[in-house]
Amino acid sequence: MRSEEIGTYEMLWDCPHCNTPKLLGIQHRHCPACGAPQDPSARYYPSDEDKVAVEDHVYHGADLICPACTTANAAIARFCVGCGSPIGGDAEAAAARSEQQVGQGEAFGGETSKDALAEARARRDAQRQQAQQAHAGPKPGMSRGLKIGLVVGGVVLVVAVLVFVLFFWKRETTVEVKAVAWERTIEVQEFKEVRDSAWCDEVPSGARKVSRKQEKRSTKKVQDGEECVKKRKDNRDGTFKEIKECKPKFREEPVYDDKCYFEIDRWTTVRTEQARGSSNDPAPSWPAVELREPGTCKGCDREGERAETYSLTFVDLDGESHECEVERAVWDQAEVGAKWKAEVGVVTTSLDCGSFTPAR
Ligand SMILES: [Zn+2]
Ligand SMILES: [Zn+2]
Repeated sequence: MRSEEIGTYEMLWDCPHCNTPKLLGIQHRHCPACGAPQDPSARYYPSDEDKVAVEDHVYHGADLICPACTTANAAIARFCVGCGSPIGGDAEAAAARSEQQVGQGEAFGGETSKDALAEARARRDAQRQQAQQAHAGPKPGMSRGLKIGLVVGGVVLVVAVLVFVLFFWKRETTVEVKAVAWERTIEVQEFKEVRDSAWCDEVPSGARKVSRKQEKRSTKKVQDGEECVKKRKDNRDGTFKEIKECKPKFREEPVYDDKCYFEIDRWTTVRTEQARGSSNDPAPSWPAVELREPGTCKGCDREGERAETYSLTFVDLDGESHECEVERAVWDQAEVGAKWKAEVGVVTTSLDCGSFTPAR
């Protein structure tokens, strides 16, 4: 974040006795019209048009309030400009107006002493309330945050219980094995020419007829100007500081790279041989694979991946049928017409395919 000081300006105040508005925080410690002392808690920020710059401002610190007459004195004063009383370590420092902020290109609005006093009053009330709460200990009533927390917690709990009931509440039931089935497959691969593509720094060896094309490979963040705000901060000595704060802004930009298109010889699945059956006698077997030209030449073929699945169809007491894919060891125990125990979802009514125990 980049921070830049724009300048230092006078806070303003309105005289509460003769109503003279827009008196200057530093120059007018007393009202030039009636002589009434400045109340530091009535100091406010001016609009941009009413801003009065303080050149070569030397900052000594927050004003000190005279304990005897409440006049605001510069932090370096040893005696009160209002009543002459000594200003010692027991003098209270002037309170700060809260910081204000506008976006880029926006102007600050003006205020009056009423706004400043209202803010001071609200701050005092909040402090008093906090002090009372600290004294009284925790309040008997629940705080708003706690109430919201409890409601949210309750809702989450109910949803969790519902999900649990929906998916995990099961009961044991008896099902009948209605049908058994198996399927086995073997891929047949041929070593043949295929077209493929890869980023040019990842092209496999053996690639032929390589052509290149620029394509989007990733994205990166690039800085796209800045996002700025203007802030004004009370110096607590009758002036305020205006600051510009900027954060870099980013946008996504595509990153292009060379994509290579090529031809290459590769083992490629050209067909899948399949065997299936609906009984466990005869036992499941692999399909026959006839190879045209075994070997590693171009145009040669070989066996690829093998896969096998075993499934059972059950009918429950309500006559509803369920299908399960199971391990071979479970499948081997299945006989059409046999009664098995299994778990079924109370709400979902779906059969838990991992819960079988043959009931004998
Ligand atoms: Zn006045
Ligand atoms: Zn005084």
